[in-house]
Amino acid sequence: MNKREIIHDGVSIKIYGTENPEQVLIHFTDEITAYNKIKKAMITDKGIYCNGVSCMISQLLQDGGVPTHFIRQISSRDQLCWRASVIPMEVIVRNVVAGSLAQRLGIPEGLIPKEPIYDLCYKSDDLCDPIINDYHALALGLVNRTDLETIYTMTKQVNAILFPIFRKVGITLVDFKIEFGHLADGRLVMSDDITPDTARFWDIETGNKLDKDRFRHDKGHVGEAYKTVYDRLKSVF
Ligand code: UDP
Repeated sequence: MNKREIIHDGVSIKIYGTENPEQVLIHFTDEITAYNKIKKAMITDKGIYCNGVSCMISQLLQDGGVPTHFIRQISSRDQLCWRASVIPMEVIVRNVVAGSLAQRLGIPEGLIPKEPIYDLCYKSDDLCDPIINDYHALALGLVNRTDLETIYTMTKQVNAILFPIFRKVGITLVDFKIEFGHLADGRLVMSDDITPDTARFWDIETGNKLDKDRFRHDKGHVGEAYKTVYDRLKSVF
């Protein structure tokens, strides 16, 4: 698999074209950022754990019937995916209150809502990904009604598949962010990676955070936490 032109030069992820115009290579680096890239650092082997977790999760989702852009893992830090035209909208699922939701609504972290909460955000670094609702998404033409319904159905499926798998390995899937896009043939797929960078994982027994919050809040042992998620998922994969 040859890397060609760079399509997206991100900090923790770089996306390259390949010899097949419909396929891209996603490369995971060891860099970590938070607070809209204001805080940056290197975490040894983070790229390996994130690529590993992402590949296992994408495979589990595909096996469970959720269409994704994932094709296969190429190396410890690389995965091959279908090229997607990504919808500029993030979908966040919250099984437990944490992060911006706790702050925004003044609810204690750890509270379990009566049912999962779904947030939509408009993807814009300049605006810090502001929260929007279904009406904004439709009125601004980010998605059409059919795709929005499919996105919610697929998002619920993702949560229904992943929550019990993580519970089995002693981890609460607190929340996660996903994005969707269209492939060249028009198919709507989840075109994102779920990793400890983009989801919150709490150890069920100890309550320890096993995700990017360790970096955001200077708790240390970031690499060890990411490795724990990787090792535990691998044990049931
Ligand atoms: N998230 C993400 N990218 C974003 C915003 C959020 O991956 O641009 C993830 C985040 O890591 C967490 C979940 O989505 O797992 C919910 O994030 P939240 O809204 O609580 O924002 P945060 O507190 O992370 O700023």
